[in-house]
Amino acid sequence: MPELPEVETVRRGLQPFMEGATIARVEQRRPDLRFPFPENFAQRLTGRRIDSLERRAKYLIVHLDDGLGLISHLGMSGSYRIEQDEEETAPGVFHHERSRNTTHDHVVIHVESKERVKSRIIYNDPRRFGFMLFAEPGALNTHKFIQDLGIEPTGNRLDGALLAKLFENKNAPLKAALLDQTLIAGLGNIYVCEALWRAELSPLRVAGSIAGENSEPTPMAERLATSIRSVISDAIAAGGSSLKDYRQTDGELGYFQHSFSVYDREGEPCPRPACDGTVTRIVQSGRSTFFCPICQH
Ligand SMILES: [Zn+2]
Repeated sequence: MPELPEVETVRRGLQPFMEGATIARVEQRRPDLRFPFPENFAQRLTGRRIDSLERRAKYLIVHLDDGLGLISHLGMSGSYRIEQDEEETAPGVFHHERSRNTTHDHVVIHVESKERVKSRIIYNDPRRFGFMLFAEPGALNTHKFIQDLGIEPTGNRLDGALLAKLFENKNAPLKAALLDQTLIAGLGNIYVCEALWRAELSPLRVAGSIAGENSEPTPMAERLATSIRSVISDAIAAGGSSLKDYRQTDGELGYFQHSFSVYDREGEPCPRPACDGTVTRIVQSGRSTFFCPICQH
């Protein structure tokens, strides 16, 4: 399942082909993905210029020149690729589960850049848990999938003081609080495990315990904020470099390339120098948590 860094990599891959381009034609090849497509989906996009391509949490948002927003979510297996010529190989495939089976190409957006370069933006999704919906002009921030999103884990806004404030008096385990999308938006299972390991904090710790007296941030809150930002920015940087590699060498793109410290490493030695712990897997709220019980407190 694509997490925030993968979605940001997709955005950066699509951006040069989409921003400023005009949508010449849209092929919608089935009535629904996870949800039905909006009414008049293709018609409402046709002829519009794309002002910008934004990401919020794990949603891609295509801003059109009439104020309409196209919200795209990749679900479990969604991917975008770009084709420019029948004979040419694709210049970029922006997701890990690369499917060359065109029966899963559900939407093809034909765009023409300011320089009159024509490209096809193709959305492929074998499992169809992804979706595309419209946000009417001026209604993006009140859209049901957008309105309750917490803060982005990428910017400097996420610091120890803010985390302490968000988590104070919360009795849920730290892991659950970090996965709560209304607090921090777009942080998924993998990166929560990795951030907690970097911060040397146990996923089982009570979330509120990282806030001190009068909701002052403790050193734990500061460490956690730093770890979250660095885990995400490292993964985005890795995605960016894989994007570049892909164009040059046809390499695979996505988080299979990322190396994790604890995620999916049950039974392996903790990679922290001087720690002789073993990466352990437990299940919290139905999802696997990987952590080192020796150095994470
Ligand atoms: Zn350890």
